[in-house]
Amino acid sequence: MSTETQSVRERSDFIRDIVAADIAAGRITVPVTRFPPEPNGYLHIGHAKSICLNFGIAAEFGGRCNLRFDDTNPVKEEQEYIDAIEADVRWLGFDWGPHLYHASDYFEQLYGWAVHLIEHGLAYVDDQSAEEIRATRGTLTEPGLNSPFRERPVEESLDLFGRMRAGDFPDGARVLRARIDMASPNFNLRDPVLYRIVHATHPRTGDAWCIYPTYDFAHGQSDAIEGVTHSLCTLEFENHRPLYDWLIEHLPVPSIPRQYEFARLNLSHTVLSKRVLLRLVTEGHVRGWDDPRMPTISGLRRRGFPAEGIRDFAAMVGVAKTDSVIEVGQLEFAVRAVLNRTAQRRFGVLDPLKVVITNWPEDRFEPLEIVNNPEDPTAGVRSVEFGRELWIERDDFAEEPPPKFFRLAPGREVRLRNAYFITCDEVIEDEAGRVVELRCTYDPATRGGDAPDGRRPKATLHWLSAARAIPAEIRLYDHLFSRPDPGADGDLFADLNPASEVVVRGYVEPSLAGAAPGETVQFERLGYFAADPASRPGALVFNRTLTLRDTWAKVQARG
Ligand code: ATP
Ligand code: MG
Repeated sequence: MSTETQSVRERSDFIRDIVAADIAAGRITVPVTRFPPEPNGYLHIGHAKSICLNFGIAAEFGGRCNLRFDDTNPVKEEQEYIDAIEADVRWLGFDWGPHLYHASDYFEQLYGWAVHLIEHGLAYVDDQSAEEIRATRGTLTEPGLNSPFRERPVEESLDLFGRMRAGDFPDGARVLRARIDMASPNFNLRDPVLYRIVHATHPRTGDAWCIYPTYDFAHGQSDAIEGVTHSLCTLEFENHRPLYDWLIEHLPVPSIPRQYEFARLNLSHTVLSKRVLLRLVTEGHVRGWDDPRMPTISGLRRRGFPAEGIRDFAAMVGVAKTDSVIEVGQLEFAVRAVLNRTAQRRFGVLDPLKVVITNWPEDRFEPLEIVNNPEDPTAGVRSVEFGRELWIERDDFAEEPPPKFFRLAPGREVRLRNAYFITCDEVIEDEAGRVVELRCTYDPATRGGDAPDGRRPKATLHWLSAARAIPAEIRLYDHLFSRPDPGADGDLFADLNPASEVVVRGYVEPSLAGAAPGETVQFERLGYFAADPASRPGALVFNRTLTLRDTWAKVQARG
């Protein structure tokens, strides 16, 4: 991670500049940041950007980053999400050490501060319904209306707030509101709600509470309790900053955090809204939160994306102050760069076509040594057996080859990678005219893939010994949505890509018989593939992480 961290730092950004300036001016000695997920869903690639930013800054400047669950809405939050979030942050390569916190750790303190505001005439209990409060908020051009309860005596608000906590009232009967300014041009300052009544069991505090602080009342105060210096959030919170500062200013908090906003990550061909991701899961459009097509961290992991590739991507896109949509191809580029370096090469055949080498003896098998990764000399070699019956890829053969198709065809010679040159002598078809077998001859002088006379076939194909190959289920993944801007024309779900998952039965080489879940390899010429968590010996399942760049597809596309 060190080289990546350095390159981030070399590049810097406006937030790192602010942190550096605060240190230089002596305002802080080291930065304290936090990553504050709400446990109401799984983390996605957008969160990864925020995680890399917060933990990255802490590491680079010798500070620390807290993991704090923003668990203030028990109706939507679950232990499953809490566990998944911790696992995903760790897997991304970050460590919060002992600094694991929850907004719910501070419920008693936050309650005390709410009482403090009431006592100082800065908050009041409002008996209006949510609809009434919404209807009196005013508009962009008109101020809001003061609540009829705004001038209620302090003692009365204190009493009612205590009874709200005690459970005397049903959900929605009353709220606690800050008493700021109903005429403020900023809606967030028009007497925002600080506490609401919610009779729901909380994953951590159980039934101890039936009133819960809003995000705005919990967030800044939690930052202050934890000594957070730079509270980094996405741009939609910019309008909340005046409220954040107002609360910090009017409460006896132990430290003064500052909020800074950066642009959220948007990715083409996908959605990063937890609400939509939840629907994809609950409505069965995908195999779960960790479906390899999901932009969740757990989905990307199952797909075979290495954590390093995700961190590199976060560094690549950087941190800006204006929103933009990043091409998903950029993420794929970062991932390919890592996998090209780290993934061992293997042979796999997705759509097998039988080849019989007629001049090769029936029961002779010959082990051939093949380099595991040409990019990494330390990765060593493996042995793959050659034999009389082979599998090649069906689309590596054409009975009537179109122009620029250089692969196998009747009468043509090709190289089988690291093995021999073969020539196609005969094509066998079934009654329906479908090619079922090719009869070929090999040239014994070309062992290893070179001919003594220097002749060079135009194509090199991957292959497997049919007797030795192991069957595998292979899931070919493509973008979940078929357009870069899903939902732009209306129904998001109508833009789901029907071919985002195609399952085939293929073969892989024997060295993959015991592939560990998560192990990512390159099937030569086909792409990167990762063993699925459910893959096991005898029932192998591989997920296609990404294709390699395919020059033939480009030629075809050009027509
Ligand atoms: P919700 O719709 O539930 O509020 P959220 O995406 O804001 O979803 P949080 O769990 O509140 O989810 O987010 C945790 C942190 O991650 C916040 O600081 C948030 O700003 C940041 N974050 C969320 N989405 C993105 C994104 N697309 N790009 C960058 N940061 C993000
Ligand atoms: Mg949020």
